[in-house]
Amino acid sequence: MNNVYDFVVVGGGIAGASTASELAKIGSVLLLERESSLAYHTTGRSAAISMESYGNELIRKLTCASREFFENPPSDITADPLCSPRGALILSDEKSFAKLKLRHEVVKQIVPSVEILDRNQFMEMAPFVSDKWIAGMYEKSAFDLDVHAIHTAFCRNIRKHGGVIKTQAEVIEAIRVSTSWSIALSNGEKIQAGVIINAAGAWADVLAQRCHTKPLGIQPLQRTVVVIDPEFNVDACPYIGTVDEQIFLKPDVGRLMVSPCDETLVEPSDAIADEMGVAITMDRLESSTMLRPKKIMNRWAGLRVFVPDRSPLLGADSNVEGFIWCAALGGYGIQTAPMVGKLCASYAANSSIPTELLEINLAVATPSRSITSGYGKTISVEDLK
Ligand SMILES: Cc1cc2nc3c(=O)[nH]c(=O)nc-3n(C[C@H](O)[C@H](O)[C@H](O)COP(=O)(O)OP(=O)(O)OC[C@H]3O[C@@H](n4cnc5c(N)ncnc54)[C@H](O)[C@@H]3O)c2cc1C
Repeated sequence: MNNVYDFVVVGGGIAGASTASELAKIGSVLLLERESSLAYHTTGRSAAISMESYGNELIRKLTCASREFFENPPSDITADPLCSPRGALILSDEKSFAKLKLRHEVVKQIVPSVEILDRNQFMEMAPFVSDKWIAGMYEKSAFDLDVHAIHTAFCRNIRKHGGVIKTQAEVIEAIRVSTSWSIALSNGEKIQAGVIINAAGAWADVLAQRCHTKPLGIQPLQRTVVVIDPEFNVDACPYIGTVDEQIFLKPDVGRLMVSPCDETLVEPSDAIADEMGVAITMDRLESSTMLRPKKIMNRWAGLRVFVPDRSPLLGADSNVEGFIWCAALGGYGIQTAPMVGKLCASYAANSSIPTELLEINLAVATPSRSITSGYGKTISVEDLK
């Protein structure tokens, strides 16, 4: 049984951890991470909010279905709270008001409590925004995620069920021989596995090529975050964004995270916040709020990973047996992680789709994919154009 596993999950971010946590209950699992610590890349750099009104229909459905896990985590997974109340306010100016109303019409089908507020109604919760913002869509039920606690809970569950987690273990090549994979690691180890799950984030296409299958058009888009001292208490403020995605602000233990919502296409890398990104952030902060911080407390950048249709790649590769994609989770990978993990685990184990996912009818929600047997089983580059 040495170095032979039913499932090898590549990537120790939230996608890999959630999928491996599900698979550990049904077979032998090895989770591989190239870095010396888990969640070092995108997972460790998020804004840590869950908004059911965010993203396309598929994302919104996965987010809604994941809520129960965060609010009432299974007691065998963790006793720690995984989320806390926050609320989210998406602002519009005169020019973007029609867009806000349209978005409200769409999202209220799934989140009926989302409401449009006028300036008088939202000023109390966001007193520092500039007077160009005339309306806001308020999602009271949006909540903060404790990403560390969530990721830790998944990893604890993997180990509890006998799964193995290895860091500093980069997959450099995998070859499908008959019904199993022969996997070579950077540390010289050789692994055998029935199924590989590609949760390699920005490197998902690189991994596909190393496994001798086709890349699917992964686009890592860099986003900058700057942390400022707002010089007054913002703890009770909601997450604040704008409908045309110009800026977001989020309270963060007495400070304020600010991002210009930039999306710069880059090679997969250890993203670093550059001077241009920071300058754009401060410029947007000035034009959108009354805040004039004296000092930047922290800064970072992370890669939000998409394919052109902005839906995640969840499902079996159509070119090679035993290769499951769990990638392109965009700006939603934490808030959808519980359901993404369940779904990818069901593909990997070739078991039936979990009931809570059947109920939300994912097949209908992914019209741009060529779905033959339902639920994204057939994925090709053409489908993504
Ligand atoms: C600024 C910012 C704000 C965000 N805000 C939110 C938010 O509020 N809410 C939300 O839900 N989401 C948010 N996101 C998105 C979320 O963080 C991502 O969707 C999620 O973290 C993606 O997780 P992942 O596991 O796919 O990728 P990653 O966390 O990047 O994990 C992939 C891992 O694979 C490893 N790897 C790659 N190749 C190999 C190999 N060959 N062998 C071994 N290991 C390998 C990498 O080292 C990496 O650790 C945000 C992202 C950013 C950047």
